[in-house]
Amino acid sequence: MTDIANKINKFRYTLVNNFNNLDLGNFYSNLDSLKIIKSTDEIYGKLSYYTNSYYNCEKNIIIIKKNKIDDMVLYHELFHMASNITINNNIRDGFYINQGDINIGFGINEGYTEYLTRKYFGDNHTCTYEFEVTIAKNIEDVIENNKMISFYLRGELESLINELSKYAYINDVMRFINNVDYVYHHLYDEERESKIINIVSKINIFLVKIKIKKYLDIYDLDYLKENKDELLKIKYNNQYFSKFNAIQDENFFNYIFSKFKSKSK
Ligand SMILES: [Zn+2]
Repeated sequence: MTDIANKINKFRYTLVNNFNNLDLGNFYSNLDSLKIIKSTDEIYGKLSYYTNSYYNCEKNIIIIKKNKIDDMVLYHELFHMASNITINNNIRDGFYINQGDINIGFGINEGYTEYLTRKYFGDNHTCTYEFEVTIAKNIEDVIENNKMISFYLRGELESLINELSKYAYINDVMRFINNVDYVYHHLYDEERESKIINIVSKINIFLVKIKIKKYLDIYDLDYLKENKDELLKIKYNNQYFSKFNAIQDENFFNYIFSKFKSKSK
């Protein structure tokens, strides 16, 4: 058995043992026809500098750069495969949808894909999706883990949106998904830095608000205020993103807390 076949076997074993079999329909049907090809020089040129590999949803092919693929990158691409339900150019892959005029969910999808890769195959991996991973992890703090994985494997962004709508207005949820996509597309564009900071601030506000809504079932607001650093702060664990931690200052939290009333005792 080749090395890649061994890894695919390990991936299959991990999914079967950790996830609900009813959520693995897309995985089983894609696994049978999955192809892994080494890129030709022509395709290789199209892969960006930091992209080691690529999963083509329409063709169910993982394209790897030259002869080598990092284990973690392979598992990441296999999660894209396991959550792919593309029919006639209507792409649905995890939380990503590209159908007609709709083209949404890039950021959440990459973040959760990489989050799952680290959770099940080793968390010392680093990649360009650190921002998106943090977002996915914070959403999972609010939504039950088994629901989120089920929506992802079934390619149901709508179900994720519905679930988030229990904690926020649907328009705010949609704006949040679009904001994460904006940052996904432009994060490293220095000319847009102030706009990015502004949008990340909105993303943080959304996440902190839904976390407060969730935690108010367990704690009272005063307790949350006292323990905001531990329970509410969105922590971007990367030197490059420390500016996103810095914008969550006292004013930031006072603004959000002003939207919630303490229960009188
Ligand atoms: Zn990916």
